[in-house]
Amino acid sequence: MNIKTQTLSRFGYSDFRPLQEEAIDALVAGQDVLLAAPTGGGKSLVYQAAGLMRTGVAVIVSPLLSLMHQQVEELNTKGIRAKFLNSTLNLDQQDDLAWALHSDHIDLLYLSPEKLTQPSVIRFLQGMDIALFAIDEAHCIAQWGGFFRPEYSQLGQLRETFPLVPIIALTGTVDQNTVDTIQSSLKLSSCLVLRSSFDRANIYLHIAQKRKAKQQILYFLHHEVAGQTGIIYCRSRKKTEELSCWLNGLGFPSVCYHAALSDEEKQHSHATFVSQRGSIMVATTAYGMGIDIEHVRFVVHMDLPNSPEAYFQEVGRAGRDGQAAKALLLYGLQDMLQARQLATSQPQSAVKEARHLGDLFRVLEKRGCRRHNLLSHFNERVSDCGNCDRCQSNQSEQNVTIASQKLLSLIYYTKGVQPFSVLIQILLGKKSKPVKEIKGESLALFGKGKELGESQWKSVVRHLIAFEYITIGHSTLFTVQLNETSRAILRGEKQVIIAAEHYYPRLEEDQLAV
Ligand code: ADP
Repeated sequence: MNIKTQTLSRFGYSDFRPLQEEAIDALVAGQDVLLAAPTGGGKSLVYQAAGLMRTGVAVIVSPLLSLMHQQVEELNTKGIRAKFLNSTLNLDQQDDLAWALHSDHIDLLYLSPEKLTQPSVIRFLQGMDIALFAIDEAHCIAQWGGFFRPEYSQLGQLRETFPLVPIIALTGTVDQNTVDTIQSSLKLSSCLVLRSSFDRANIYLHIAQKRKAKQQILYFLHHEVAGQTGIIYCRSRKKTEELSCWLNGLGFPSVCYHAALSDEEKQHSHATFVSQRGSIMVATTAYGMGIDIEHVRFVVHMDLPNSPEAYFQEVGRAGRDGQAAKALLLYGLQDMLQARQLATSQPQSAVKEARHLGDLFRVLEKRGCRRHNLLSHFNERVSDCGNCDRCQSNQSEQNVTIASQKLLSLIYYTKGVQPFSVLIQILLGKKSKPVKEIKGESLALFGKGKELGESQWKSVVRHLIAFEYITIGHSTLFTVQLNETSRAILRGEKQVIIAAEHYYPRLEEDQLAV
């Protein structure tokens, strides 16, 4: 048995997964590596094994305390000498750790980016033999920039301070832009870039229009994934608490998780979710980074994720054992507009956030196979997957050019200041209060859009927004403008074809007992 196979067996495995061996070989030879592989792809083994194979201690930067705890415990049970250094250690424990490190009793040292960038810690490490630096969840650099975790962007100093120590940056599903950002911030100019396939073919992808989301989720939980373990993602903290409480009341065992909970509450939620099969975690995106639970069978998005990367990463928390799993995403026009407004209201990151959202909208609104649309965002080609809502329906399409022309004309006549809901009411000929207030009945297009129902009109609007056939203003006041593409549609030079909408069913609470 060579050293590589020996090391692999210490972790209890007999074969490498794709890219693991290549990455380990490069690190052992002293080369920097950037490894982008989907959640569950087995990235941790790379720095852990390479760390054991090189002399000195491997220093691993991990952004989440809970994650560090979990990994260190798992490694210790395998007899691997791992420890973590974080703010929960008291002075005595820190002294013990320093002694253990100097006496060569530790192979893997986990710490947070905040710790690693402290000058005293850097000085301490300079006096030691370091096997490698591993920067886990490196997409934090690009996603959050210097915003939430400024220390992440300071990690670039490692390359200069430790010129002879190889660095590996690990990230989940990211696009080329993010790879470039990580590489330049960490100064890994000549690193080996390894990207594995993003396809997680075992996960059924279902994306549907949101209509009474709670009841749609109830249908999903009762008819599609009864008794199974899964995660429901919501945007707001309050919503996670409310939904979790509501589910518990209906007999679906559930816990919730978000950033404002205390550390104990978070640990408790996580531990309950991990240990109780059939439980449901209702969480904001604060939950999940690095979560490795084999038996998660479904992931629901009750609200829109922030980007195609976030969507794929979150969905990827299901089916990590390779068995069939399901992902359901519910969204509507309102979610799109709200997400957009939220993204553009944060001046520090508005442009980037809006770009990510724009990418997401296009993935969601594109016709054809869901997986194909999603993976093509990551420059990967797959043919129709057979495992998404589009592939399992007849994929009918609808030419809505004339309807789009009516809507665009109405935007023009109302000077782009009326919300879409009012425009749709005018097209449907509804004499509602907001329509009357702007004398909508007197417009030539009043009642001239009855060929489509309200939700179909919303689909048309979503499509126009997603592909930027209209331009939504950036100010806090709602405005929408026609652009070159709108004019091409109005002139009949461009057709608008959307995928026919399939509705996701609902189940009312009182139908549950039946
Ligand atoms: P990632 O960090 O890429 O999300 P992990 O490192 O947490 O993924 O690994 C996901 C799962 O795959 C873990 O349960 C791990 O034990 C398992 N795993 C990793 N490498 C191997 C391997 N070579 N053979 C079998 N299982 C593996």
